[in-house]
Formats: sequence, structure tokens, C-alpha cells
Amino acid sequence: MPLEGSDPRNVVKLLAELVEPALVATVGPRYFGFVVGGALDAATGADILTTGWDQLGFNGATSPAAAAVEDVVGQWLKEVFGLPASASFGLVTGAQGANTVALAAARHRVLSKVGWDVEQRGLTDAPRIRVVASDERHATIDRALRLLGIGAGAVDAVAAEGNGAIAVADLAKVLDADATAPTIVCLQAGNVNSGACDDLAAACEVAHRVGAWVHVDGAFGLWAAASATMRHLVAGIEQADSWAVDGHKWLNVPYDTGYVFCKDPAAHAASMSYTAAYLVRGTDEIERAPSDYVVESSRRARGFATWAALRELGRQGLEDMIERCCALARRFGDQLREIEGVQIGNDIVLNQVLVSFGSDKRTDNVIIGVQRDGTCWMGGTTWHGRRYMRISVSNWSTTDADVDRSVSAIHKVLAATP
Ligand SMILES: *Cc1c(COP(=O)(O)O)cnc(C)c1O
Repeated sequence: MPLEGSDPRNVVKLLAELVEPALVATVGPRYFGFVVGGALDAATGADILTTGWDQLGFNGATSPAAAAVEDVVGQWLKEVFGLPASASFGLVTGAQGANTVALAAARHRVLSKVGWDVEQRGLTDAPRIRVVASDERHATIDRALRLLGIGAGAVDAVAAEGNGAIAVADLAKVLDADATAPTIVCLQAGNVNSGACDDLAAACEVAHRVGAWVHVDGAFGLWAAASATMRHLVAGIEQADSWAVDGHKWLNVPYDTGYVFCKDPAAHAASMSYTAAYLVRGTDEIERAPSDYVVESSRRARGFATWAALRELGRQGLEDMIERCCALARRFGDQLREIEGVQIGNDIVLNQVLVSFGSDKRTDNVIIGVQRDGTCWMGGTTWHGRRYMRISVSNWSTTDADVDRSVSAIHKVLAATP
């Protein structure tokens, strides 16, 4: 920690010089790791303005602009996903935040139905909550359960089918084994390895038969709903009770942005909102307080960047972007499959492609080789007991030529890898 301060211009210049060699080119068109996504120009511009404006996105009194824009963004997103117009929403920091908030709302409702006020009494001596979720749920579901005091051990796991979607017949069996327990079912749209989406319509039906709350983790997969040709993957989406989705992944908004929606606004607000004597509410025009639906109090006015992304794309541009990424994923699959010694490990239903190059060791060596080559970047994963290169196409700027160039680079590395 330096003793003396410095001129701010020099500080910024120094920072850029120091960190640039260690930055990762995640906004580039050939970064295919971790479902990262890029950043749309308007969203980036709006995010810079947000920083300069330094608005407090707590409620309509601290920033009428932030509260109003969040309101618009929430309505637009519900339209895009085909969620009930009456659903509540919160702009959170990502899908981890969204899963946590949604499961807090679920916790409120399943316990209030058996006469337990969890906000007041906590979980000590409360009826046990049962959580039913797929073996292939995202790890952030478990962390949310830990944070909420439900515990990751409360999960009754259900097997997944071949491509990574929940086996609905097994889900029904597990649910029926204890049909009276307060139950939360966690479904998934977009398996982080295969891209598979659970059969939401069928799963919601069996879950609601036992009165369960159904949460959908759709961090990236929920965006399938924005496309007429991909929407079938999330058919029945509107039957769930809560939804989590990311903005910073496939919508290509800068970090940190995610969205949570609840069909039960009372449960959502009951689990999140609070009041204090010094607080003033918003104006009559802007009644909704953004902070009533999230964990943070003082918070970034994160609606601006999403508004800009949706306004830059429009419904049509959003649909095109989602479909383009899926088509590029299929292009990867079609070209890689033709190369000797390459196997595609998943059914490419969305934007994810799993590739193996023979043995696990060779696959890992190819992944390292491709990362060193620097034409493109892909990570590795283990799925169903095998190592894979994981390709995620989720950047608005990726083109056919980027895929072709990346496939050539992979081909070259593979030829040089024993
Ligand atoms: C990425 C991801 C998450 C976590 O999202 P963050 O934005 O990193 O918090 C949760 N679920 C799924 C399916 C994901 O792909």
C-alpha cells in the first residue's frame, strides 16, 4: 500500500499497463469457455454511464431513473421468456444470486403452507424441507441451499437421462415416495455440459401434483424461449413457480447481471424486503422498490445495461443472436465430427458442444495445446465419467469464419498430439 497518492490519470494509465498482459480475451469472438458471453456495444456503453452516474438502485427515492428502467426491463424480459405478466422480478448479480433469491421465496411458501413463519422463526425446529433435483443440477443450487440453511444434504437426487435432462419418471417416483413433505423441485434449462433442457411441462405437472414449488435454473438455457425455433426446448416454462436466468452470459451484458422471477410476488417480497425508520419509499409513479426483490440494499443501477442490450437487439435481434449461436455450435459439431479421432459427446440441442479426442489423456493434451496455440479458447470438463473439451458459443460477434478458424486450429493441434 503506497503512502503517497497519485494523479488519477496516472493511476488509470498504470492500472491498464499493469493488468493488460494478464487479461483474458473473453469479449472476443473465439472465446468459447464457461458460457461466458461477450458484451454488446450498447450494454457496455450503458454500463460505463452507470458507473459515472453512480446511482443508488435501492428504490424510487434514491434513483427514480434506476427504478423506472428496472421496471421496464422486468416487463420486457417477462415478454421475452413468456412468463406471466403478474410475476415479480429482481435484478440480481447472476444466476447464483437468482437461485438463492428464488429458493428463499420457495422456502417461505412451502413452510407458510404448513403454518411455519420462517422469516420470523428461522429453521430451528421447522418442518424439514425436501428438495428434489437432478444429479446434474448446477453447483450453485447446492450453495444456495447451504446459504438458506436448508442444507445441500436436503437434496433427494434424481437421475438424469442420456443427454443430461432430468428423468421425469424417476422424478415422479421420488416425489410420490413422500407426497406430503414441504417440497421444492429444482429443474434446469441448459445443462452446463450438454445444454440439455429438462422437460419442464411434464416435470411441472408431476411436481405440482404433490404441491411442490418448482424452480427453474435457466442461467443460459432460458434464452431458448426468445427464439421461435428453439422455444420448444423450454415448453411449459410458464408452469413453474420461479425462474433464474443470467444477463451476463447469453444476453451479452457486462458483469454482474442476472434476473429472478416469481409467480408468487408475495412470497418473493416476504423473503427479501425489509423496512427501517429512515427509509422513504419511492414516488407514486414508481411504486416498485428494486431492493424488495434482491439481497442487496445499496446496489448498482444494473437495469440500464440490460435495457440497452434489449434495445440494441430488439426482439428480432435477440432471436437472431440465440439462433446464430446454436447454428454455430452445430457447425462446430459437423466439422469436428468429420475429423479422424474426434467424437462429439453430446446431442447438440443448444449452444454447447462436448468433444473428445480418444483417451482422456489425449483430450486433456489437446485442450492444453489449443489453449497455448491462442487462436481460440475452450475449457475441459468431465461428463458421464469421460473427459471432454467443452465448447460454448454464446458471443454475439462470433461468425462462421471464427468457427472454421477454430476448427482448423484444433485439427492442427490434434495432429501434433500423440
Ligand atoms: C453459470 C450458471 C449458474 C451460475 O451463474 P452465475 O451467473 O455464475 O452466478 C447457475 N446455473 C447454471 C445452469 C449456469 O450455467
